[in-house]
Amino acid sequence: MKLLIIGGVAAGTKAAARARREYPDATVTIVTQDDYVAYAGCGLPYFVGGEITEARELIVRTPDEFKHENRIDVLTRHQATVIDATAHTVTVRDLNNGTDIVFPYDKLIIATGALPLIPNIPGANLKRISTVRGLNDALKIRAMLDTGKIKNAVVVGGGFIGLEMAENLSRRGVQVAVIELKDAILPGFDPEIAALVAKQLREHNVAVYTGEALTEIIGNAASEATEAITTGRRLPADMVIFAAGIKPNTAVAIAAGIDADPRGMILVDEYLHTNLPDIFAVGDCASVRNRQTDADVFSPLGSTANKTGRLVVANLFEDTEKFSGVLGTTIVRLFDYHAGRTGLSTQEAKDAGYDVETVLVPTPDRAHYFPGNRMIITKLIADRATHKLLGAQVAGTGVVDKPIDTLSVGIAMGMTIEQLSGMDLAYTPPFASALNSSIVAANVMLNKLAGKVRGVSPFDLKLNDPTLQLLDVRTEPEFIISAIPGAINIPIEELHPRIGELDPTRPTVVVCKVGRRAYAGALELSRAGFTDVAILDGGMTAWPYETE
Ligand SMILES: Cc1cc2nc3c(=O)[nH]c(=O)nc-3n(C[C@H](O)[C@H](O)[C@H](O)COP(=O)(O)OP(=O)(O)OC[C@H]3O[C@@H](n4cnc5c(N)ncnc54)[C@H](O)[C@@H]3O)c2cc1C
Repeated sequence: MKLLIIGGVAAGTKAAARARREYPDATVTIVTQDDYVAYAGCGLPYFVGGEITEARELIVRTPDEFKHENRIDVLTRHQATVIDATAHTVTVRDLNNGTDIVFPYDKLIIATGALPLIPNIPGANLKRISTVRGLNDALKIRAMLDTGKIKNAVVVGGGFIGLEMAENLSRRGVQVAVIELKDAILPGFDPEIAALVAKQLREHNVAVYTGEALTEIIGNAASEATEAITTGRRLPADMVIFAAGIKPNTAVAIAAGIDADPRGMILVDEYLHTNLPDIFAVGDCASVRNRQTDADVFSPLGSTANKTGRLVVANLFEDTEKFSGVLGTTIVRLFDYHAGRTGLSTQEAKDAGYDVETVLVPTPDRAHYFPGNRMIITKLIADRATHKLLGAQVAGTGVVDKPIDTLSVGIAMGMTIEQLSGMDLAYTPPFASALNSSIVAANVMLNKLAGKVRGVSPFDLKLNDPTLQLLDVRTEPEFIISAIPGAINIPIEELHPRIGELDPTRPTVVVCKVGRRAYAGALELSRAGFTDVAILDGGMTAWPYETE
């Protein structure tokens, strides 16, 4: 078998390595237009920041190692330009000398990844501007930082790549501003979780401007970027990083007659076949099935690229392994703050037609008395009708990958909140609380589903509603330190005798630090005849907006 693979980063090299193991007699060739193969794209921000010191640490395997250890031919700086599906050939241009080589194939795997989007604005082609996609970009950015001339940087795009770059530029002593077109950073996360992350970034001296578009970059006489202009402000910018999204890199495939959706992602079935015989597509260039909605989605992640790259090899001759799809599980570390998501967001769940209930529950990530415990905030999204867990997001300075992975498995298995509440999870004080954070969140959700309490998320709390009665039941010292504007303070132990100070006819939202005292307060108010009572989900701990 002649196996030809176009693209040699995550998906392509994974496929090549497994193909060599499974088909010892095959000729396996990777062509890639890049200078490098098999590098860890996900590690690029940390190389820029210096946490990863040498570029070679990011390179998993060199072309020489592929050749000598795996008998895989890797041609770098070779660009596939034409796929002839009938003749079973690919024309490849040698970028070193401009000559074309025609490669015959029996099986072809397309793993051409994605391309960064470049805003079409004046100044976009100045110097000291970079995308962050490949190792060359990271080397270029690091070299710019090493000149010592970069004092201010603007990162365009508040997705996880833009934010990781912001963190790492900041670690290098650069004053960073992030501009995000949408109203919230971190697409895919619920707005109050994204707002918590933005708050943390600001506390680490990274400016975050949402709802603003970059309109122009101004340069100096040497054509170097010096200033970025947005719809809201002018920002000093010795460097501009474009992290404003990516699109599938599929022009060559589409020109060959391979089916793609309007956004350009190659449509594949669950065995990763394209519509043309003997041609497969994997990684960022290909669609994946969302496990919950069954839709073909663009989910460009290293985890998916590695899985599909490995899996496709099983299906080269017959369909033996199905790709089970994605839940959009992602995680990000920004300074000492962590945020992860899996499954549907609240909005995605509503768009999919679910009657949604949510909870936002702060807990320590291990026993509250154990040294080193840190707060995490768990958001669960469930279907009121079936009690199925639909989505989860966890953020905080504590450990979030463990709950996110647990909850992701729960969603994949179609778990209900009752089943989540009954999970037998590992416990000892250094690792967890006796009631694990996910179980506590499930129990709060069960209370809500049973109608025992109604919650309002920080995002949905309408502070400008003149009828709103916001009751803070924390102690007076807690209230003085920081409170939501407009809140009335009656500590929980004084609520019973002082209940007459409140108007039972007004909609009342009760808040405390994490939710427990607010729950008790809400029950007290309901017993006293207040008709419209809710608690603020997550309390002050999960309140991401202004306080006074
Ligand atoms: C900065 C950064 C951080 C990231 N962090 C994470 C993370 O933390 N977690 C996570 O899950 N994912 C992360 N990702 C995403 C992850 O890196 C990608 O999903 C993954 O690299 C996709 O692999 P791929 O092989 O499909 O495509 P790519 O990595 O894009 O590789 C495709 C290769 O094909 C080459 N190519 C394209 N067209 C041709 C052609 N015509 N001829 C020859 N060669 C061609 C390209 O030049 C490229 O070298 C991150 C990405 C970036 C950029």
